[in-house]
Amino acid sequence: MDPKKALLRAADETLAGRIDSGWVLENLPIGLFLLEVREEGHRILLTNPSFRTIFGLEEEAADGITITREDKYSAFESIIDHCLAVRRTCKPAYFEWHTRSEPSDQFFACHLMPRLGGNGEVYQILGSIIDRSAEKRAERILLHNALHDALTNLPNRVLFMEKIEEALERQRDGEAQHCAVLVINLDRFQLINETLGHLGGDEFLVTMATNLLKILRPEDTMARLSGDEFAILVSEISRIEDANAVADRVHRTMRAPFPMGDSEFYASVCIGISSTISSAPYADDLVRDADLALHRAKAAGRGETEVFHRDKHRHVRSQLQMEVALRKAVQNQEMELHYQAIVDLFTGRLVGFEALARWNHPTLGVVSPVDFIPIAEETGVIVELGRWALHTACEQLVKWRQEEPAAKSLTVAVNVSGVQFSRSDVAAEAEMILSLTGLSGDSLRLEITETTIMKNPEHAAEVLHQLRDQKIRLALDDFGTGYSSLSYLQRFPIDIVKIDRSFITDIESNTGNHRIVEIITMLGKTLGLTVVAEGIEHQIQTEILRDLGCQMGQGYLFSRPVPAKEARRLIALGDNWLT
Ligand code: C2E
Ligand code: MG
Ligand code: MG
Repeated sequence: MDPKKALLRAADETLAGRIDSGWVLENLPIGLFLLEVREEGHRILLTNPSFRTIFGLEEEAADGITITREDKYSAFESIIDHCLAVRRTCKPAYFEWHTRSEPSDQFFACHLMPRLGGNGEVYQILGSIIDRSAEKRAERILLHNALHDALTNLPNRVLFMEKIEEALERQRDGEAQHCAVLVINLDRFQLINETLGHLGGDEFLVTMATNLLKILRPEDTMARLSGDEFAILVSEISRIEDANAVADRVHRTMRAPFPMGDSEFYASVCIGISSTISSAPYADDLVRDADLALHRAKAAGRGETEVFHRDKHRHVRSQLQMEVALRKAVQNQEMELHYQAIVDLFTGRLVGFEALARWNHPTLGVVSPVDFIPIAEETGVIVELGRWALHTACEQLVKWRQEEPAAKSLTVAVNVSGVQFSRSDVAAEAEMILSLTGLSGDSLRLEITETTIMKNPEHAAEVLHQLRDQKIRLALDDFGTGYSSLSYLQRFPIDIVKIDRSFITDIESNTGNHRIVEIITMLGKTLGLTVVAEGIEHQIQTEILRDLGCQMGQGYLFSRPVPAKEARRLIALGDNWLT
């Protein structure tokens, strides 16, 4: 014999001696069984320990027994069914099943391999069973995490929407009554976070979630939609009062002090409610309408509830859309400044312009500042908008001065909102913009209202003095509509008073208004202020105002607010504004 071959055979034999298939079978972590396929019932020829563990069988109870469909081993039921199919088709099969057991359910996957005889029929089937419980448990955890909020373990927005869909489905099938959605927002969460720190804030949210869960019925769902926003789906309601009752319970729960370390903490929430009674039966609509109601509740104050009513909220919906669009408007260059001439009523000279913001909305067209300024203030967009307006107006005046000799002595007035005044450092911003554009402070006027000053007189005095230090002139806008105390305003470095348009409109016929304008003009003069009349539309009004000693005026009679290009033409026109 070829020595090489002999060597190989010897190696084979040693190997054969070393491989103990019995041991392999015994220790394989996969359940194995071999079935003999017979008409009267399959006989189990062989099993391994893993198989017996899966079915909780003793060795002697498994091998050699015959199993039928009616067998007491109900766990085998699906195996038998599949074996019958394998016998019929002569093809391998794969299937999964799961059993409910403590502490957690078990999942198995089974593979069946037919062994064909010479006649082409199946006479044995080899089965292998894998325990997939751990894998399935991991899958379930992943799924849970995808649908739940990690902090509170409550359903998240995705699952919440699914739950609403399910409730609506039951309603459509006539199985359930109406359902309601409550969107709950924590008042002053920022403050809570600042006071307790972020960990404390988290702890607070968890406690809040736990407390609120206690007051819900098992069939209701509570979710955490975002940071400080929760939602409750109340199913099976017949009247909106049922949802209101839940909201009341939420408020009551929130009113109780939250223990935090060794102190107590008080919080409140605002709640917006929508229901299929007044909203379209779609999950998206319900949540959006509840959000709109919440928006109103928050506008009303702390601890408020608002129920969505279609009519009441129609304008809010457009307001919300506006809010989103407004945020982008400044960056998208949809904002433009128009300029309205301010004229010296005695000399007819053009003194300067007031810059007024216009929003060229891509679909709505030109939106009036009367509509968007309040939203900009409410949302804080006003800070950015105000900065933009100031920068643009200053830049524009510098440009005119380079182009038109007549623009040398002109001034530009920019409106500053109260919110902008309190939220941003207007003085620092003005300083920065002046140095960027190269405009001198005495060419700039800032218009603020009495309300702005009265909200926080100390802060106002400080900022106004800082602006005055930069030689910027300060005008009190819409005078007469607010606090209207000139003597009080002596305390502030104001240079100009603008009499509100409402007094000028009918000054020729309304003696009361005539008298008011007379007094303001007189007092203004005494205090050394320049008085500007707003809203002059007729020649006669100019004459009356001049008689009363009002120095300056502004209004459609002279010019409407116009784009920068047109304003430049007005500058070039010269100083014959009174004829
Ligand atoms: P305002 O500062 O009192 O501006 C005067 C308003 O009166 C302007 O309205 C102007 O177009 C209008 N007006 C002027 N003359 C006449 C007239 O003869 N007849 C009539 N009927 N109206 C006249 P506009 O441009 O709609 O602005 C409204 C308000 O919006 C402004 O009142 C101001 O408070 C605010 N605003 C405008 N632009 C800005 C801005 O850039 N920032 C801030 N914070 N507020 C702005
Ligand atoms: Mg103004
Ligand atoms: Mg005004």
